[in-house]
Amino acid sequence: MSESIEHESDPQALLLRLCEMAAAVPPETPKPAPDLSPAPVDAGCPRCFGTGRLHHYRHRAAGLCFRCGGSGLR
Ligand SMILES: [Zn+2]
Repeated sequence: MSESIEHESDPQALLLRLCEMAAAVPPETPKPAPDLSPAPVDAGCPRCFGTGRLHHYRHRAAGLCFRCGGSGLR
């Protein structure tokens, strides 16, 4: 008497299934940084984001934001 196990008894089918699972899941997925904007845009000057300074204007007027005058306020 022999048991006929047709369910999941084929090693090749099992291997194929494992390969499919491995291919479906990438090994490492770097998560994109969540939205971590430090300064609320609405709370201050939209030009300097409330810092009062403009990084790319440091050669002119010591980087003071010309829009808010360095106060960082709107
Ligand atoms: Zn500003």
